[in-house]
Amino acid sequence: MNIFNTILIANRGEIAVRVIKTAKKMGYHTVAVYSDADAGSLHVSLADTAVCIGGTSADQSYLDIDKILHAAARSNAGAIHPGYGFLSESTAFAERCEQAGITFIGPSARAISLMGNKTIARQHMVDAAVPLVPGYDGDSNDDSVLQKEAERIGYPVMVKAAAGGGGRGIRLVREAAKLVAEIASARGEALSSFGSDELLLEKCIEQARHIEIQVFADQMGHTVYLGERDCSMQRRNQKVIEESPAPQMTDALRQKMGEAAVEAAKSVNYVGAGTVEFLVTQSDEFYFLEMNTRLQVEHPVTELVTGLDLVEWQLRVAAGEPLPLQQHEISLTGHAIEVRLYAEDCDNGFTPQTGTILEWVKPTGEGVRVDEGISKGQEVSPYYDSMLAKLITYGSTRDEALRRLKHALTQTVLLGLPSNKQFLLRLLADPTFVEGKATTRHIEENILVQQELSEAANVSQDSWALAAVLLSRTVGASGWRSTGTLRWPVRLKQGEQTRDFFVAQDSNQYCVEDDEANSLTLTILKESSEHKGQMLVLSNDMQQAVNVAFGQQQILYVDNGSETLNFQKISFSEKKAEEELGANLVAPMSGRIAEVKVSIGQSVKKGDLLIVLESMKMFQELTATQAGVVSEIYVTEDTQVDVGVPLIDIEQEEKT
Ligand code: ADP
Ligand code: ADP
Ligand code: MG
Repeated sequence: MNIFNTILIANRGEIAVRVIKTAKKMGYHTVAVYSDADAGSLHVSLADTAVCIGGTSADQSYLDIDKILHAAARSNAGAIHPGYGFLSESTAFAERCEQAGITFIGPSARAISLMGNKTIARQHMVDAAVPLVPGYDGDSNDDSVLQKEAERIGYPVMVKAAAGGGGRGIRLVREAAKLVAEIASARGEALSSFGSDELLLEKCIEQARHIEIQVFADQMGHTVYLGERDCSMQRRNQKVIEESPAPQMTDALRQKMGEAAVEAAKSVNYVGAGTVEFLVTQSDEFYFLEMNTRLQVEHPVTELVTGLDLVEWQLRVAAGEPLPLQQHEISLTGHAIEVRLYAEDCDNGFTPQTGTILEWVKPTGEGVRVDEGISKGQEVSPYYDSMLAKLITYGSTRDEALRRLKHALTQTVLLGLPSNKQFLLRLLADPTFVEGKATTRHIEENILVQQELSEAANVSQDSWALAAVLLSRTVGASGWRSTGTLRWPVRLKQGEQTRDFFVAQDSNQYCVEDDEANSLTLTILKESSEHKGQMLVLSNDMQQAVNVAFGQQQILYVDNGSETLNFQKISFSEKKAEEELGANLVAPMSGRIAEVKVSIGQSVKKGDLLIVLESMKMFQELTATQAGVVSEIYVTEDTQVDVGVPLIDIEQEEKT
């Protein structure tokens, strides 16, 4: 038995909060660590003790093994829970914990090293007789060898970083002519994210689902599986929606996959929580993808359908207890679905967003669970993953879980920075997803394509009108009423659109007219003191509860349940300047210019690749928003740029 009373959580955000809650419930003393950027975070206030490890970037803080071990010594922690991401799959960290006499809550360093590298893991799975995707996992990484092997495997192929995770360093290559360039790009991303540029190749399995098995093992060698999760709804090979059980799963397939996953775990003497990921074809053949040797982001869906607390199991196993249940005692009841709420701008390449959380209202209700790492007033910094919270719902059927999730999402209010809430609502309404038929490339190949077409999705007249009223009142609080102006003009910008309105007031009733003389009557039935928080608005004949918050620079954030928007009041002279800027490219976030793909004088079409920006260890492809000719390039490869810095000017060929 390992005796420990104090557990240090070497992580941040929602997973640190999640682990602290169970550890406290079980009577453990909990220790949070935090970087300078996270001083005001939720996980810090929830822990019994918090140790500042300084630094801001992940390298200087949560990835710094010496700092974490020093914090453990300082707080007398006998065990460390690594969460997911950061040091959770670091062999070196697990070894250092062992040397320091601290219990690492996870598998052995050996199991991590065998499974942490996709090439080694594949070689290992051959012995465990777990089916593999045809591919190349040999030692040579020369372009010429990879080219030959890709021919042998047959296109399309996936180029993958051996040390990869989180969908990084993966490239789908459909034709031989593109292979060398994609290899270079995957190598670059792999090196900067994982410190290794080792690659492997796999045949691309088309029309497949991502189905993974949760496994658990104790120190006595008992190993069980806790059902599956379908994580096929992905963007850039990164999960967005996860559920359990998988739609259309049969008992026979679950058992076959479950047993294969248990074999995979046993082959490395696995201990603790782990996930074996598979691709499953339309004819129910399944292939090993990788094993994640830690608690997974999407573990809550398994918790809801099994009724178990997986963090509790992790702590029991780490303390030397046997697994609480045997295989025949484990069953799945009902259905659970999770969505990941990210601070990102879905209309602009899903770039991570920073800012202050002005409003955060989480949903409540039957079957609703929220795992969050944020609180109102908190600053979202650029240093870490942009996932802020997870919404999970449970229902006796998939339909019920899905209905509850949609409702919970409309109730969720996050104002102050763009989030993917509206995108998630769209995904949940997608007919293929609703039918339970999504495969791994569905979002990219079917949903995002439509988004491009219906660009600048229609913002409702109700939202424009409310923004016109609220922003026209900010002209100087007293000025508005005393000027005697009957119709107050206001110019608003929302996304790419700029529109003019006239607002007239009669006590709490407003008449809003646009420049084509369409009008709407808006009555403010209830408003909070500083025009912040929830308001009740009668829009012509329909009542709407709307959450609002004012940001800097005359920006108004609005959420009416189905729409999350921000409007900016701009001066009447700004519109033209904005339009002229239209085609020019500015840095959407700070980072390093990895590649400049165009030269001065070159004609480009909408969607052409202009620049590859490396930011937060990801390679972002910046494309032309309009056709034109490159007239100026302000940066070269390796330049560091701040957000908003001009990168490329494009002269439009014809004005629309
Ligand atoms: P990561 O470590 O980044 O999670 P994975 O190997 O688990 O990498 O793959 C992530 C996702 O990439 C998968 O869920 C799947 O959508 C896609 N993918 C990976 N390998 C293949 C493949 N051989 N064929 C088709 N899709 C794949
Ligand atoms: P999962 O299925 O748990 O999401 P993935 O293979 O998709 O696993 O992703 C790898 C893990 O790395 C995820 O848990 C992801 O959230 C985490 N991750 C990615 N980037 C970061 C980061 N900057 N900080 C912390 N965790 C990260
Ligand atoms: Mg994976």
